[in-house]
Amino acid sequence: NMKPHIIVFTNIFRDQLDRYSEIDALLNIIETSLEKSYDTVLLINADDPSLVNLGERLPHVKYFYGIETAIDMGSQDLAVDSVFCKKCGHRLDYEHYYYGQLGHYTCNKCGFKRPIPDFQALIEDNKGKRKLIVQNKDTDFKIQVDIDSSDTYSIYNMLAAISCGALMGTASETVSRGLESYRPQLGRMEKFYIQKPITLNLAKNPVGFNESMKIVSQDVNIKTVAIGINDLPQDGLDVSWLWDTNFEILLETDDAIENYIVFGWRRYDMALRLKYAGIDPDKVTIAENIEDAVESIVKGASEAGYILLNYSLLFDTQKILKGRNEDAKANPVPSVS
Ligand SMILES: [Zn+2]
Repeated sequence: NMKPHIIVFTNIFRDQLDRYSEIDALLNIIETSLEKSYDTVLLINADDPSLVNLGERLPHVKYFYGIETAIDMGSQDLAVDSVFCKKCGHRLDYEHYYYGQLGHYTCNKCGFKRPIPDFQALIEDNKGKRKLIVQNKDTDFKIQVDIDSSDTYSIYNMLAAISCGALMGTASETVSRGLESYRPQLGRMEKFYIQKPITLNLAKNPVGFNESMKIVSQDVNIKTVAIGINDLPQDGLDVSWLWDTNFEILLETDDAIENYIVFGWRRYDMALRLKYAGIDPDKVTIAENIEDAVESIVKGASEAGYILLNYSLLFDTQKILKGRNEDAKANPVPSVS
């Protein structure tokens, strides 16, 4: 029986279908488990309507964090997970939309809306330099961090961590120092160099894949895009989520993609999915194993490689890339969630 002081809620996206058949079922489990620890403080992402609704159903002390600045996170997702009001079922109206179901929303039918965050993130752009400012609306707690465009998708993680630090009474200088030593999780936009830059990114669900592909499409180099899909228990046995993922994002910059490689146990499903996305099957190679997939990226005519894969392929792929890596100083950059 764990009774934590603070629980931080970041977001709930549709993940492995066979593990959590529905977001609602998952929310109910969380709600039930919290009924036994009423002293726990909840720190909730105000931009996620599912979590805010969950918070409204619980009597706990709650704090909210959210992004105030209407920045563009590339919001043309087809995989919007939860855009209906959890209270009345009406479609939520978004004044601004970040990605997934995250944004500034209102229900025009029952009045459910995004709460005013206690911890507010402002993003300032000045001559290509981007700054993240987090402030508490009621206290003098305020932090500024320099970020770059590849940090966009980790703003929520940074904001959650900063808010949690502030709630625990940590001084802003201490939180700043912690952020400076921040290193992203394994496999999140990890950089290697094997005759060309190769970026490895773990993506576990439609939202994660969509965000990864947007980053790939921002790279103007001629690229090889390798996609690895397994269906082991830790990945989720059901791969129907491939059809909820917007692989059409790749088609938009297909001119700058030299070729595609698919690998993993479900490589044929993935090849079929790319075909239905409108990608020329002649550009798609099916690799029998990870070594072949990596070798195809290295020997191909492209200037850069991207490997997007799900969980059970990560560690073997990472090991092969590390073994062949020519740039020992290659550092990972912050993460995509
Ligand atoms: Zn409503």
